[in-house]
Amino acid sequence: MKIQSVKGFHDVLPGESTRWTTLEQRARAVFAQYNFQEIRLPIVERAELFQRSIGETTDIVEKEMYGFTDRDGTALTLRPEGTASVVRAYVEHAMHVQEPVSKLFYFGPMFRRERPQKGRLRQFSQIGAEVIGRVDAAADAEVILLLHDLLADLGIRDAAIHLNSLGDRACRPQYRDALIDWGAAHADQLCDDCRRRGTRNPFRLLDCKQPGCLAIRHTAPKISDFLCDDCRVHFARVLELLAAEGVATQRDEYMVRGLDYYVRTAFEVVASGLGAQNALGGGGRYDGLVRALGGPDVAGIGFALGIERLAIVLEAEGAAPVPRPEFVVAPLGAAAEREALALAHRLRRGGARVDVEAHARSLKSQMRHADKLGARYVIIIGDDELAGRTITVRDMAAKLDRQRVAHLDTTLSELRAALAEPLDSRLERHA
Ligand code: AMP
Repeated sequence: MKIQSVKGFHDVLPGESTRWTTLEQRARAVFAQYNFQEIRLPIVERAELFQRSIGETTDIVEKEMYGFTDRDGTALTLRPEGTASVVRAYVEHAMHVQEPVSKLFYFGPMFRRERPQKGRLRQFSQIGAEVIGRVDAAADAEVILLLHDLLADLGIRDAAIHLNSLGDRACRPQYRDALIDWGAAHADQLCDDCRRRGTRNPFRLLDCKQPGCLAIRHTAPKISDFLCDDCRVHFARVLELLAAEGVATQRDEYMVRGLDYYVRTAFEVVASGLGAQNALGGGGRYDGLVRALGGPDVAGIGFALGIERLAIVLEAEGAAPVPRPEFVVAPLGAAAEREALALAHRLRRGGARVDVEAHARSLKSQMRHADKLGARYVIIIGDDELAGRTITVRDMAAKLDRQRVAHLDTTLSELRAALAEPLDSRLERHA
C-alpha cells in the first residue's frame, strides 16, 4: 500500500520549487539592499515561548500548535511563526550588547493546525523580517518600504498594503473595554465564536468573516477615536513618510492581526486574486515583546510573507518559468557514452546547464525528450562523430535540419562563440 503525505503538509514539486527559488533569491537581494542579515532558527521551540508571546487566548495557541512532550517532560512545539523565535534568539544571544539595532530576515516552514484549503496549509513557509531596537516611526516606514520594494521586485502588482494603528499600552486598554461593551450589547447578533471571544479576545470581533458579524461591524467603536497623542503622532509620521516615497497604503480600521503582541503600526498585504485566503503577509510593531521574553526594553517591528501564497500569485502572473538546459548531449550507443559524459562534465564545469540522454535510446526518442526539456541545443555523438572526434550541434530554436559540426574536445566558450557565428561559417577543426 502506498503511503501518502499528511493532510495539510505538501510537497513542493519541480516547477513550483523554481518559483520558490526565484522568490527567495529576489527577497535576498532586497534584504541585502536594506542591509538585513539572515538568521536561521530551529523549527522546534519550547511551547512556553508562544504562550508568552502570541498570547494564550489566540487561535494559534489555543488550538493550532503542534505540541508534544519531549522524553524529558519538556513541552515543545513546532513553531507556528517566526517573530517569537527571532526575539528568543535576540535575547538568548544578547544581541543588543553587540549592536543597538538588529535587522534580521529568515526563511522557513511554520506549522499551524488550521483547516486546510487553497492557500492554507498546516505546514507553510514564510519570508520574514524584523528590526529590533528602533522605536521611531521612520523604522516602521522603512520596513513597509522594504515590503513594498520586495513585492515590486517580485512583479506582484495585485497587492495592496492595508495599515492600521492598534494603539499602545496607554490607549489600547480603553479601546479594548469599549469593544467588550459593544460585543456584550450586540451578543445576540454575533456568531458563537465571537460571543465566546467577546471578553477574552475582543479585537477578533473586528476581523470575523461571518455575515452576521460583518453586517454590524460598522457600529463598533473605532480605534482611531481612542488613540493617545503619542500613537496618533507616530502613525501620522509613518503615513507621511510612506506617502513621500510614493507608497500607496489603505487605512483599515478593522485590521487587528491575530496576535497579542502587536502595538501601534500593524499592516497586511492583501491580494485580490487569492480568494478567501487573501493575505499575502502581515506584520507590525511589537514594542513590549523583547522585554516580555526576558530581554531589554527595546522596541521591534517586522513582517512575514507566506511563500505558498506568493507562489500562487507569481504563477498567475506567469513569472519564474522552469529553467531549460542550454545543451542536451545525445550519445548514440555505448561507445559514445563516455565521451558524452566527459563533454557534459566540461560544459557544466564551464557553467552551462547541461543534460545527458541515456545512450541506449534511439536518436528520435532522445530528440523528443530534449525538446520536452526545452533544450536550446542538442549535441549528437554518434559513430561518425566518434570516428572524426566531432560533435553535431542542432539548434532547437531553428529548423531541425540546421546543424553544425564542432570538435568533440571543445570548451564551453569555444562552443558558445561558434554557435554565435552565422551558420554558413563552418567550424570544423581537425585534431
Ligand atoms: P501571520 O503570521 O498569521 O500574520 O501570517 C503571515 C502570512 O503567512 C499570511 O499572510 C500568509 O501569507 C501566511 N500564512 C499564515 N498562515 C498560513 C497557512 N496556514 N497556510 C499558508 N500560509 C499561511
